[in-house]
This record gives sequence, C-alpha cells and structure tokens, in this order.
Amino acid sequence: MNDYPVSYKIKKIINETHNIKTIYLNASLNVKPGQFLMVWLPGVDEKPFVPTITGKETAITIKKRGFFTKKLFALKKGDLLGLRGPYGHGFEFEKVKNACIVAAGIGIAAVVRLAEELALKKAKIDFVYGCKSKKEILFQKRLKKNFKNAYCNR
Ligand SMILES: Cc1cc2nc3c(=O)[nH]c(=O)nc-3n(C[C@H](O)[C@H](O)[C@H](O)COP(=O)(O)OP(=O)(O)OC[C@H]3O[C@@H](n4cnc5c(N)ncnc54)[C@H](O)[C@@H]3O)c2cc1C
Repeated sequence: MNDYPVSYKIKKIINETHNIKTIYLNASLNVKPGQFLMVWLPGVDEKPFVPTITGKETAITIKKRGFFTKKLFALKKGDLLGLRGPYGHGFEFEKVKNACIVAAGIGIAAVVRLAEELALKKAKIDFVYGCKSKKEILFQKRLKKNFKNAYCNR
C-alpha cells in the first residue's frame, strides 16, 4: 500500500465511448474488487477512481465530467500519473454463491472486476447494467466472455 502518490507512466489509452476513456498504467498493484485508488495530477487535484484492471498493469476508466476529468482526458501515452492506495475494505465475496449486481453508466467501473471474480468462482450472477444509449455500453467484449447469455434491450 502506498500512502503517498507514486508516479506511473501511461502505457496505453483506449477510447471506450465519446466521453469515456480507459488509461492503462505501468503499475503493478494488488487492488481488491471494491477498493479504490486516489489518482493525482500534480498542480491540478487528486480524486478517487476504482481500477477496472489490476495486477501486472493497472487501468482506470474515466468519464469526462468536470475540471479534473477534462485534465485527465488531455493526457497522452508516456505522461505520468500519480496513484495512492488502495483504500477501502473491498467487497466480501469469497463465500458468495448467488449475486445480483446492478450498475449504470460509468458505475460499472466499480463492479466489473467483482462480476469477473464471482464468475471465476462459478457463482450464479444476475448482472443488470443500464446506460443512456446502446453506444455507451462499456466492456462489451469483457462482459460477453463471462456472461454468455447477455443481451441488450434498448
Ligand atoms: C470511491 C469512488 C470511486 C470513483 N470511481 C470512479 C471511476 O472509476 N470512474 C469515474 O469516472 N469516476 C469515478 N469516481 C468519481 C470521480 O472521483 C470524480 O468525482 C469524477 O470523475 C468527477 O470529477 P471532476 O473533477 O471531473 O468533476 P467535478 O467538477 O467534480 O463535477 C462536475 C459535475 O459532475 C457531477 N458529477 C461528478 N461525478 C459524477 C458522477 N459519477 N455521476 C454523475 N454526476 C457526477 C458533479 O456533481 C458536478 O455537477 C469515483 C468516486 C468515488 C467516491
């Protein structure tokens, strides 16, 4: 755990939708589903984000909202970003056999890893995910891997 920000290089940026990006960092961190990181942009601000990928690399998925996220959107591959944490206890899901996970819009960032971990443990999952429009649905390929019966109803 880093209780002070450590800078990591951005290795890749994926445009998920017109206003959502995933930034991949060269950061090897162990963050439990449900925990969050403080993301620090020197001279701008520091705000909480839930990593959508952790392990050998770390990714954060950001929706452009206000001042801070506009600055994050301007970052390029090779730029540095500070991370502090992880914080929070994370979800207690080890013994869960049945789950109903509900998310909307960028809120899926907070539960996508939980859903994947539960799927690995062969838990029975009902995953309800809503977005303003079909083109804003995040992580379609990722979700289809574990949720073969997924369908989209507009
Ligand atoms: C534990 C935690 C985890 C988070 N994880 C993520 C994440 O993975 N991805 C992510 O994009 N954001 C996440 N957030 C929100 C993030 O920390 C910022 O607050 C958000 O990105 C907006 O910052 P900003 O400075 O750009 O906008 P601000 O200038 O703070 O806000 C601009 C406007 O948007 C509104 N607003 C801010 N956030 C939201 C929201 N999420 N939904 C609806 N309206 C909002 C504000 O009320 C304000 O009117 C998380 C927040 C918490 C507390």
